[in-house]
Amino acid sequence: VGTELTNGAKLDTNSQWLSLELDAVGIPVHFHTSVGDDLAEMTAVLQNAVRRADIVLLTGGLGPTLDDLTRQALAELLECPLVLHEPSLESIRSMFARRGFDMPERNAAQAMFPQKSEPIPNPRGTAPGIWAEVERPGDCRSCRIAAMPGVPSEMKRMFHKEVLPRLPGGRQVIRRLRINCFGLGESATEEMLGELTARGRDPEVGITAHEATITLRIAAHGKTAEECDAKIEAARSAVRERLGDYVFGEEDVELQHVVVSMLAERGRTLSTVEVGTGGLLANWLTDVSGYERCYHGGAIVPSGPALAALLGPDAGVVAESGPISDPTAGRMALHCREQFGTDFALAITAFPSYDPETPAVDAPVGYIALAGPDLLKVRKHVLIGDTAILKSRAAKTALDLLRKHFLRSEARGAT
Ligand code: AMP
Ligand code: MG
Repeated sequence: VGTELTNGAKLDTNSQWLSLELDAVGIPVHFHTSVGDDLAEMTAVLQNAVRRADIVLLTGGLGPTLDDLTRQALAELLECPLVLHEPSLESIRSMFARRGFDMPERNAAQAMFPQKSEPIPNPRGTAPGIWAEVERPGDCRSCRIAAMPGVPSEMKRMFHKEVLPRLPGGRQVIRRLRINCFGLGESATEEMLGELTARGRDPEVGITAHEATITLRIAAHGKTAEECDAKIEAARSAVRERLGDYVFGEEDVELQHVVVSMLAERGRTLSTVEVGTGGLLANWLTDVSGYERCYHGGAIVPSGPALAALLGPDAGVVAESGPISDPTAGRMALHCREQFGTDFALAITAFPSYDPETPAVDAPVGYIALAGPDLLKVRKHVLIGDTAILKSRAAKTALDLLRKHFLRSEARGAT
């Protein structure tokens, strides 16, 4: 509650925090509503909320000033008057006294509560919270309402100490697991997972995509941690069985972590050369702790004369086939491998500054090449989407090319 939230001056972080806390105890949150400091609008929002949810949590609007209308809106909702709660008045008065002030008359408003509600103590601030239960016609379950202060630190304390213990159904255990995949789209992933992603299943398997990485979010609900862990384990093996090599890691593991540890395990080294990605591939690789053992360096060049200079005696390929081409990508990888003296080299030549408004470039394509011992692979890569995403897609495709190479040669019994 607060006009500072609806006009954009402040971000509603309380809703996010509360949702995460409720999720952790197995209470799903179906709606967030922000409403300005207007009595009629707040009342309408509350009436709607009570109809559609079993628990309604409010934050804000409990202060002493004229624009703090949460208590009035609750009184409207409960169709009862505001009455003075003497113990709260005393506690507010003594709060001021302890700080050496007289209580301003306006703060007495914070001791007023809808007749059909009860105060929630707030030792950290002056404003108590408000607790109420509303009978719903035609529904045996009443709706529970808690109004808490807007100040995040006060709200958090009141939620944990006073509100959460009063909420029903908050004793479930939830366990989660994220499985990360690359190389498939969201809908293809969903198809391969089949009934695993059906709504209402336990464990739940949700799919989200971020810059071409597909993340499966598994959530298991149960009475004990062991029960949840068993469900998670079953879902993990079902997912791995269906998606195979598309799965590259879990939780915060990214492709660069996988590639660096694959190189380290095999005692192999890597270098990179990038046109168009601004060094994103090199940047990611150097994020991995211990990368120095296997990543021996990279070059970042624009597609103009600098690329030709980099290729030296092979520069002719740029004039012949163009900077963004299969032969150029291949030469870049071979040249890079030689220059850095590494076992493998990854090359990207892409054109992420492609502007769909300027038809000078026909198709936003890129090429990704992997050079290794007796090995040169070049992949054409169609770049669709926002520029920021194009760079990460190209860099991820390069990392995945090396990861897949290791997996395949392993399957063939070589490294
Ligand atoms: P109020 O209880 O409405 O007087 O709010 C007190 C202060 O808490 C506001 O000035 C905001 O700075 C902060 N606040 C209120 N609501 C939120 C919210 N939903 N998320 C984050 N901060 C908030
Ligand atoms: Mg306010």
